[in-house]
Amino acid sequence: METTHKIIRKHSLEKLYVTLLENRKIYAPVKQADNLIGYQYNPAFSEVTFDHLQSTLSVKNVVFPKVENLFYYTNNKTDSTVKGIDLEKFPEVVLWGAHPCDTAAYDVLRSIFCWDIKDEFFAARLEKLVVIGLACHKSDALCFCTSVGLSPDSSKGSDILLVPLNNGDYKAEIITEKGSRIVAESPEIFENYGDETVNVTVVEQKFDHKQLTSKLSNAFEHPFWLANSLRCIGCGACAYVCPTCACFDIQDETRGKNGKRYRSWDSCGFGLFTLHTSGHNPREVQSQRWRQRILHKFSYMPERNESLGCVGCGRCSRACPVDMNIAEQLQALQSI
Ligand code: SF4
Ligand code: SF4
Repeated sequence: METTHKIIRKHSLEKLYVTLLENRKIYAPVKQADNLIGYQYNPAFSEVTFDHLQSTLSVKNVVFPKVENLFYYTNNKTDSTVKGIDLEKFPEVVLWGAHPCDTAAYDVLRSIFCWDIKDEFFAARLEKLVVIGLACHKSDALCFCTSVGLSPDSSKGSDILLVPLNNGDYKAEIITEKGSRIVAESPEIFENYGDETVNVTVVEQKFDHKQLTSKLSNAFEHPFWLANSLRCIGCGACAYVCPTCACFDIQDETRGKNGKRYRSWDSCGFGLFTLHTSGHNPREVQSQRWRQRILHKFSYMPERNESLGCVGCGRCSRACPVDMNIAEQLQALQSI
C-alpha cells in the first residue's frame, strides 16, 4: 500500500498506547538501573522512554525467543505421546518505539528463517506482531546504519513509523495494512500532516557495503582474520545482543518419563558450535569463527538471502569486552 503521513500530538500518544493495551500485549522500552534501556511487556505509559539511544539487547526475542519450547513428550514402555505447541495461541504483540535498525532486522531474520522451509514458530510470531517504529533523534559513533543501506528514519520493518518533530509532536508514517488497522481503531488521534520539520539525527557513512561484499568474495584466506581477531575471547556477547544473529541449538530436557525439546540462542563464535561428534572441529580457532561471523553477514547472506546480515546498530561493538569495533573492521576490510 502507499504510505500515508499523519501527525500524532505528543499528548495523544498515551491515548494510543492505552487503546492498544486494551486487547494486545505491548513491548516497549523503559529505563533500567545504571541508565540502561531494556524492553518490557506492558509497562505503564509513564515508564516508557522516547529519548533513548538504544536498548542493550535487541528486540529479536519477540519473534525468536531466547528459549522456544518446540514440543513435549512422554515415553512409556508401551507407547509414547508427543504434544505440540498451539501456534494459534501466540499473543498479538505491539512492539512500541523500536528504532529503524531493529525494525529492519525483522526482514533480515525473515530471510533466514523463511529462506527455504518456513520456520512455523518464527512465522507465527511475526504474523502476530505489529511494529510501531521510532525514528532516531540521537546516535553515537558506533552507529553505522547508513553504511548498510538504512537510515535513522528508515521505515523498513515498521507498520507505523513515528518520526519526532521539532515541536515535540510526531509524524506518523502509516506503511502497511496492519498499521492502517491501528489508525482505523483510533482515527481521532491521527491528524493531518502539514510541513512540520522533523528532528532526525545524522549518521556518518563509514563504508560502502557493495564494495565490501565484492572485496570479501576473495578474502577467505586473507591474513586479516588472524591479525584482527587475536584479542577476541569467544564470549558470544556480540551474537547475543545482535538483532540479526540467528544461530540456535536444540536440546532435550527430560525428567522421568516426561520431557520437552526446545531451541535456545547459540553463537557461531563459540568453539563448541561446530564441534563434530568425531572430535573434529572445522572452525577450531577463534579467527575462523570471527571470519565466519563477518563473511556470513556481509558475503554469504547478500549472495544467498539477497539481504545483508547486519543493520548497523553497533550493539556488538558496545557489548564487546575487548573492543572489537565491527565498523572499524569493516572499513579496514574494504581496503585490503
Ligand atoms: S563480543 Fe567481542 S570478544 Fe566476545 S565473541 Fe564477540 S568479538 Fe569476540
Ligand atoms: S552492528 Fe553488530 S549487533 Fe548490530 S546488526 Fe551488525 S553485527 Fe549485529
